[in-house]
Parts: sequence; C-alpha cells; structure tokens
Amino acid sequence: METHPGDDAVPLRRPKGGAAPVGLPWPHATREQWNDYRWQLSNRITSVEDLAGLCGISDEEARLLSRVSDLYRMGITPYYFSLMRFDDADDPIARQAIPCAEEYFGVEGGEDDPLEEEKDMPVPGLTHRYPDRCLLVVTNFCSMYCRHCTRKRIWTLGEAAKTEFELSKMFAYVKRHEEIRDVIVSGGDPLTLPSGRLEYILKNLRKIPHVEIIRIGTRVPVVLPMRVDDELCAVLEKYGPIWLNTQFNHPREVTDEAKAACDRLLRAGVPVNNQTVLLKGVNDHPEIIRKLNTELLKAKVRPYYLFQCDMVRGLEHFRTRLTKGIEIMEALRGHTSGLAVPSYVVDVPGGGGKIPLMPTYILSMGEERTVLRNYEGIIVSYEEARDDGRPSARPETTMPAPRNDVYRLLTGELRSLTPAGNERMARRKRRCESASPTT
Ligand SMILES: *Cc1c(COP(=O)(O)O)cnc(C)c1O
Ligand code: SF4
Repeated sequence: METHPGDDAVPLRRPKGGAAPVGLPWPHATREQWNDYRWQLSNRITSVEDLAGLCGISDEEARLLSRVSDLYRMGITPYYFSLMRFDDADDPIARQAIPCAEEYFGVEGGEDDPLEEEKDMPVPGLTHRYPDRCLLVVTNFCSMYCRHCTRKRIWTLGEAAKTEFELSKMFAYVKRHEEIRDVIVSGGDPLTLPSGRLEYILKNLRKIPHVEIIRIGTRVPVVLPMRVDDELCAVLEKYGPIWLNTQFNHPREVTDEAKAACDRLLRAGVPVNNQTVLLKGVNDHPEIIRKLNTELLKAKVRPYYLFQCDMVRGLEHFRTRLTKGIEIMEALRGHTSGLAVPSYVVDVPGGGGKIPLMPTYILSMGEERTVLRNYEGIIVSYEEARDDGRPSARPETTMPAPRNDVYRLLTGELRSLTPAGNERMARRKRRCESASPTT
C-alpha cells in the first residue's frame, strides 16, 4: 500500500483506468483531466515551493534544492509523481525526478558534453557521428526533467522547440547526405511537441528518399503515457516505418498506464524498444534489471540497450563502475530469455560512440579450436572450420598424460569441462536413471 507524502493515514490507491490516485495533492482532478496530457503538463511540479508543500521538505533543504533547480530545472508530471513512495528515503522514482544536492556540489566532476555531440554537429542540433545515421535534437522541452539526463547542458537554453528555420537547416543537411538512412528524432522529448509540429518534422523527413527509417527517442511512455493518444498514433502510423526508443529504468515504472501506451504504439505499427540507463541507487542490481526486462517483455517492449551512465557534470553520484554492468549482464545471459538481454554499452568520452561490453566468454583461441565458456561455467572446445577440408598436421604429443585442463580443450582431446555440482547435468542423470530401471 502506497501512502500520501506527509500523511500516512491517507492510502494512495491507483485505480484501474487511470483516475487521479486517491490521496494525491490533486484531489479535484477528474478522471478526464488526469488522463489528459495537457492537464498533466500544466500541473507539473516545477518549483521547490510546490515540492516542499507536497513532500514535507525542511526550509533548509528547500533552500539547497532551489540552488540546484536554479542550475538544472525541475519538472515532474503529476502522473510520475504518483509513482513515488515517500515512505522510502531512497525511492528509485523520486531519485530520478527530485533534485538533490549532489547535482550542485558535483559540478566540479565531469563535463557538460563528454560525448562531444556538439563537435560532431555540422548544423545546430544535428549530430552526425555514425556513417549511416544521425541524431536530431528538435526541442529542449521535456515533460519530466530526469536528474540523470545526459543532455542537461541544453536545459539552460530554455524550454524551446527548434524553429522551422532551424529545422529546415537540419532537413537540408540530411537531404545533402545520401548515406543517411536512419534519422533519430530526439531532444528534449519530441513527443511533447504539438502533434502538428511533430507531423511537420516527420513529413519533411519522409520527403527525403534515402531516409529509410525514422527513430523517435522519448520518455513519454514512462513519464506521460496519456500523451500517446489517438491523434499522436495517427501521425506516427502515417509516416512509418517509425521505431520508438523509450527509457524505462525501474520495474515500478512499468504500470498499467505505461503498458497501455506501449500497446497503442504497437497497434499503430511502431515497435517499442527500451534504453535503460544504469543508475546508482535506482537500478544497479541484477535482480532489478532482470525484473524490469521481463516486465517489459510482457508489455512487448524489447530491451535494446543498457547504458553506462555518462561522465556528465552533476551526474557523478549516479555513475556506477563498469564492473556493475558486467555483473548484471552475467546475471542475465543464459539465466533468462535472450529477448530480455540488452546490449550493455558505454558511450566513450571524446565522441568515440557506443562500445559494447560483456563478460568474457572466449577463454582461449588456438589455430584449430576456440575455448569458450557458458553462463554455467562449462568450458567447451569449439572446433574451427578448416579452409581446405583437410585435417591439420597433428604431431605425436610429448605432453604428459591428459588431464582436465584448458590446453586439452585446444588440442581437441577434451570436448568440455563441467564444474562439479552442475544442476543441468544432475537433471540429465536423474532422467537417465528413471528411464532405465535397474534390476
Ligand atoms: C546512440 C546514437 C545513435 C544511434 O546508435 P545505434 O547504435 O544505431 O542505436 C546515433 N547517433 C548518435 C550521436 C548517438 O549517440
Ligand atoms: S526525457 Fe530524455 S532528454 Fe528529457 S530529461 Fe529525461 S533523459 Fe533528458
């Protein structure tokens, strides 16, 4: 049972169908209002005073948070606010939405633009880093300002969308570069644009013959799912193929409302993929990511990337070590559906782009065989294909008598090494024994 901030007696129930949850500070919101994204946008919590009234922040704390929000603005939709639990000081939802002092005091570490997006920007707002795809920042506005945002630097530019003139320069660049076949429309959050403006962007991109697919990067399904309305779906359906990448970071964000939004997108022919950011204190545990990803599969959303948190100014308190990501990947691969296993990537400083990292599955490599290990720790010798179809020369071995070691896997004397106590082997053995009754 969730409780209302500062009033434990008032239960916070989340009714099906999405009326304002009982016990929230919008007692007069009707179901229609709550489900209207315009109402959600105009009732966003944007000041520390609003916030202090809602979750009992002390004056001293409020003064500090004001300094943070002067530097990095705040914006929380009532919907996302309703997912918070104030009986938990380390609530993973609150941590993503409510400013904290470390953002302010952490500005010494990190850079504003470590990925050097601005240096790969031939036209303002357009980053062309990879050969066949580019990224367009079409607005600086977000319905919720994630505290861990990589593009925090653009918040200071104001909550403005790009003008038609600015957009026309981006379209012209894409048109001039016939190698661009994939355009990522991002921001800010492009789905906060009025549908007409979004349609204008999609229509202009679709006019360019070499643009094969359009991708939209948005957190709307997570923080403002009611925005995925019929009007928006009709626009997206008209200019397909469109792929949508969103950012669920915690299983508690996968609500009925969020699932319904993803379902509407899928029905409009828009596949939804997820890009989780690995965040200390939010989701830096294998069990949380496994739960998140299996919940997403139930909503037919495919986990695409697990991002290492970037070295951006004011985000250091969110950044984990790379070992945490590897540990999470180790806990996923083999243990759960492959569909629930994203690529863990680190976007390296200096504009090198995304580099995938994973546990080491290759243990050794020889001319004829490669030694691999699986998630259970079974070590396997994989025989390579031969170019000429003839076996390679195999001199008499002068090695001591074979033992179970990795070199024997390379010579082919052993096929695999299995750790003692392997559950799968025990299962096979039990099945064998029950199939052949002894007399
Ligand atoms: C992440 C990114 C892309 C898309 O990368 P994919 O691996 O294709 O998803 C494109 N451009 C920039 C600048 C990016 O950061
Ligand atoms: S929705 Fe995306 S662009 Fe906007 S604040 Fe969150 S991470 Fe940044």
